[in-house]
Amino acid sequence: MYKNVYLKKGKEESLGRFHPWVFSGAIHHIDGQPQEGDVIRIVNIDGRFLAVGHIQIGSIAVRILSFEDVIIDKAFWKERISAAYNVRKSIFCSQLTAPNKESKRLTNAYRLIHGEGDGLPGLIIDVYNRTAVMQAHSVGMHVSRREIADALAEVLNGTIDNIYYKSENTLAYKASEDGGNGFLKGSLATADDIATENGLRFHVDWLGGQKTGFFVDQRENRALLEHYSQNRKVLNMFCYTGGFSFYAMRGGAELVHSVDSSSRAIDITRANVELNFPGDTRHEAFAEDAFKYLERMGDQYDLIILDPPAFAKHKDALRNALMGYRKLNAKAFEKIRPGGILFTFSCSQVVTKDNFRTAVFTAAAMSGRRVRILHQLTQPADHPVSIYHPEGEYLKGLVLYVE
Ligand code: SAH
Repeated sequence: MYKNVYLKKGKEESLGRFHPWVFSGAIHHIDGQPQEGDVIRIVNIDGRFLAVGHIQIGSIAVRILSFEDVIIDKAFWKERISAAYNVRKSIFCSQLTAPNKESKRLTNAYRLIHGEGDGLPGLIIDVYNRTAVMQAHSVGMHVSRREIADALAEVLNGTIDNIYYKSENTLAYKASEDGGNGFLKGSLATADDIATENGLRFHVDWLGGQKTGFFVDQRENRALLEHYSQNRKVLNMFCYTGGFSFYAMRGGAELVHSVDSSSRAIDITRANVELNFPGDTRHEAFAEDAFKYLERMGDQYDLIILDPPAFAKHKDALRNALMGYRKLNAKAFEKIRPGGILFTFSCSQVVTKDNFRTAVFTAAAMSGRRVRILHQLTQPADHPVSIYHPEGEYLKGLVLYVE
C-alpha cells in the first residue's frame, strides 16, 4: 500500500479543481519516509483520499497521476498511453495507423505524450517514424521508465521498433546514476534517424540533440511560414536543425540563411537541406551567436524567424527574459525590409502571452515602424493543454507585417 501524504487544512482546494501539482508548503506531514519518485496517496488532514501521485524533492512536491485510488502499474500506464494515442489518431486521422508513403504531406513525427496535457505529469514521448523517444522530467517517471516502455510498446504494437530513453539533461544526476541515456527497446542498428514532417525529411538528433531531438511543436507554424516564403530573402535565426529553413525553401524563397550558435546543429541543418534539396545553392548556414549576427548583418532580409530557447526557465528570471525578447525583436524591427514579415516566438512557460506581446510591442515602438499582427500562434494539437492546467500552454508566436 502506498504511504499517505497529509495536506494542511484548506490546501486540498486546487486538487478539487483537478490541478495536477501539490506544492511543498501544502504538506502537513507524511507517513514514514517515502523515497523520491515513489507513488504516494494524498489525503486531507482527516485522512480522506484525494489523489495518487509521484513524490519529489522541490517546490512541486507531488505530481498527480490519478484522482482515483488506483494502483500505478503497467495497466495504468497502458490505459493513459492508449487514451493519448486515441487523441493523436483523431488529430492525424489514418496517417499514424495506415500511412500513405506516397503522400506529398506525410507526417510521421509527433508528440504522443505531453506531460500534464495527457494526464502524465513529468513524461514526454515523441515518436519519430519507427522510434519513440521518451524523456522523464520527474524522478517518478524515471523510476517507472521500464514499465512505461513495456506499456508503450504494447500500445504502439507494430508501428514502432525502438524506444530511446533520453533524460541525461532533464534528470542529470538520476539518469547518469542508472547508466544514462539508451535504448529500452531496439537498438541504434534498427533505428533509422530520418523522420518526415509534411513531406519534408529530417535527421533526428536523439543521441546528442536538444529535447527529444527535434522540435515537433513548430510543425504548423513552419507550414504557415512556407506559405509566406515565395520570392523572399529569409533569415532563420535560432534554426537548430533547420526546420523552418527547408519549409521556406519549398515555399519558393529566393535565399535562406540559417543561424545557430551550435555548430552541431548547423552541421545537421546542412545535412537536412541536402536531404530535401540536394545541390540547392539558395541555402547557407552559419554557426554564430544570434546577437552578433543581427548586429553585423545588413538589411537584405524580408522574412525573419526568431525562435530563441526559453529565456526564462523560472519565475525569478522573468524580468531579464522579457528584456531579452525586447532586445532581440528590436534588432529585427530595426533591420527587416519594408513589407517584411517577422515570425517571432517564445517557448518559456513562465512568460505569458501578454508578457510576450508587451515585449514585442515595446520593441516595435522603439523602432518607430508601423507593425500589424497577422497571426497569433501557439503549439499544435498533439501538445494538448489540460483545461485544469493552463500552465501547459507554453508556445507563443506572432506573425507581424512590418511596413
Ligand atoms: N527553430 C528551431 C528550434 C530552436 S531551439 C526548430 O524549428 O527546430 C533554440 C536554438 O537556439 C537551439 O538550437 C540553440 O542552439 C540556439 N541558441 C541558443 N542560444 C543562442 C544564441 N545566443 N545564438 C544563436 N543561437 C542560439
